[in-house]
Amino acid sequence: MQNGGGSLIQVRNLNVTYHSFGETKQAVRDVSFSLNSGETLGFLGESGSGKSTIGWAILGMIEPPHEASGEVVYNNFNVLAASEGKLRRYRWKEVAMIFQTAMNSLDPLVTIKKSFVQLLIGKGIADKEEGAVEIAVNLLRYVGLSPKVLDMYTFELSGGMRQRVSIALAIACNPKILIADEPTTALDTVNQFSVLANMRKLKEERKIDAMILITHDVEIQMIMADRIAITLKGRIVEEGSKEEMINDPKHPYTRLLLQSVTSANITKIEAATGNNVKFEDGKDGCPFLAQCPYAMPKCAESFPEPKAFSKTHTVYCYIY
Ligand code: SF4
Repeated sequence: MQNGGGSLIQVRNLNVTYHSFGETKQAVRDVSFSLNSGETLGFLGESGSGKSTIGWAILGMIEPPHEASGEVVYNNFNVLAASEGKLRRYRWKEVAMIFQTAMNSLDPLVTIKKSFVQLLIGKGIADKEEGAVEIAVNLLRYVGLSPKVLDMYTFELSGGMRQRVSIALAIACNPKILIADEPTTALDTVNQFSVLANMRKLKEERKIDAMILITHDVEIQMIMADRIAITLKGRIVEEGSKEEMINDPKHPYTRLLLQSVTSANITKIEAATGNNVKFEDGKDGCPFLAQCPYAMPKCAESFPEPKAFSKTHTVYCYIY
């Protein structure tokens, strides 16, 4: 699949609903955005805000009984409408993902060598084990690991080594886009730094065209992202360049979230203490309603329309 540059992925009106044990939960609500060539787009929000689900939907990993609707379009390829066969050719070769816990994504029963060989031969990157191992050695060296790792099992590696193996596997098929889902959350500070350095190198050396970085960690987003989308209860409530978010955050939730790490440019809003505005059943109001000190009755009626402050900075809030 070739891409013409500019916007690499367009997500339009994405909704994802999970069904489990008779319960229904809408994890993503009417989310739209583009990922552009050359950028790192950060999704920043609390656990459960829908940001990981957005990543899984982009990879076409929302399977029945769960539901995904809307559009995820990669170079005229509509991911949500694609057959499993087409998705297998798309995953890892066009878009790959690093998961939060490498232990969960690596097969504990096989050596690291076997994981590489299975992937590289399965995806047609190598036709024999010998060639696959040669590629694997180069990939491991690229992420700062010794080829000796090939003969080890996942449980024999430290958390940082496992995460670097995950990065090497994720780029093994030369994907254009890398989605990193909380890639450093389980690591200590030293390993966090080396994994982040590896990810920066991937983009600087154009091993990948663009990256989506999903994390609740504000400081990591400030280091890594070019553009940031703030997620709350399945919605994007604000998006903008990193500079716009640091210097001029607009949404009350964004201001609260960034207050601890950014400069005095942010006028402190009151600690979220709630208000007297109540939701009515069946209405789909602002997801920050219960905590927002500025809430007004219409905030409970419907989700606000987007308000653009620049070509890149958009906010969903009735204050503006
Ligand atoms: Fe607060 Fe209303 Fe804005 Fe939501 S829409 S952040 S409740 S003022």
